[in-house]
Amino acid sequence: MISLKNISKWYGHFQVLTDCSTEVQTGEVVVVCGPSGSGKSTLIKTVNGLEPIQQGKIQVNDIVVNDRHTNLAQLRAKVGMVFQHFELFPHLSIIENLTLAQIKVLKRNKDAAREKGLKLLERVGLSVQANKYPGQLSGGQQQRVAIARALCMDPVAMLFDEPTSALDPEMINEVLDVMVELAHDGMTMMVVTHEMGFARKVANRVIFMDEGRIVEDTHKEAFFQHPQTDRARDFLAKIL
Ligand code: ADP
Ligand code: MG
Repeated sequence: MISLKNISKWYGHFQVLTDCSTEVQTGEVVVVCGPSGSGKSTLIKTVNGLEPIQQGKIQVNDIVVNDRHTNLAQLRAKVGMVFQHFELFPHLSIIENLTLAQIKVLKRNKDAAREKGLKLLERVGLSVQANKYPGQLSGGQQQRVAIARALCMDPVAMLFDEPTSALDPEMINEVLDVMVELAHDGMTMMVVTHEMGFARKVANRVIFMDEGRIVEDTHKEAFFQHPQTDRARDFLAKIL
């Protein structure tokens, strides 16, 4: 479903991604990990066109992401993204956060958008918060709203960039639980995270990045039991 072929990217003279290739099949959950600054966020943002690339080819189903004719707003509706900081609109209520893009991008009518929004709020356990504002919710609740907001667009895949790393420890699990459920429901997911418990539970594959390269891309058992590189071994030793 998602295919990255030999992608490279530079920020000015600094090469942030070097010849990265991987594929994610429908229903697969791929965890992306690696040291800070290794290019994980940049890599995942290239998938929905948030970061342009200078070399290579990215496809989501039959859409070529790095084709200048591709409609990026429509692509981003299909490929939902959840960031470290929840990025909800602070001046809109929770239900308004959930309906805005449905109405603007998918052209759904208000009632249909609201019904969808309420259904997804229920799915993440937040029905009663529909009329509150983001600032009135805890970090964990806001992140669950951010996930629900992405799901309102009926995405074919979801990208997560360290969705729990800005949360207080006691809120991490409520967000991971929602993600585990999504994975079990068959959602195709690329997840940048250092939560190796999550990786062990639901990942099919683990990608390990170092200095802008994908240095390991293997089945999760192989990654945890027999990392191939010293860098991955060091990384695992530090975080496990
Ligand atoms: P990670 O998510 O693995 O921590 P990033 O993808 O955020 O890594 O960043 C990879 C490298 O690219 C880092 O060295 C970072 O400083 C650099 N970088 C990220 N964004 C920019 C930018 N907008 N301009 C220049 N350098 C950047
Ligand atoms: Mg990052």
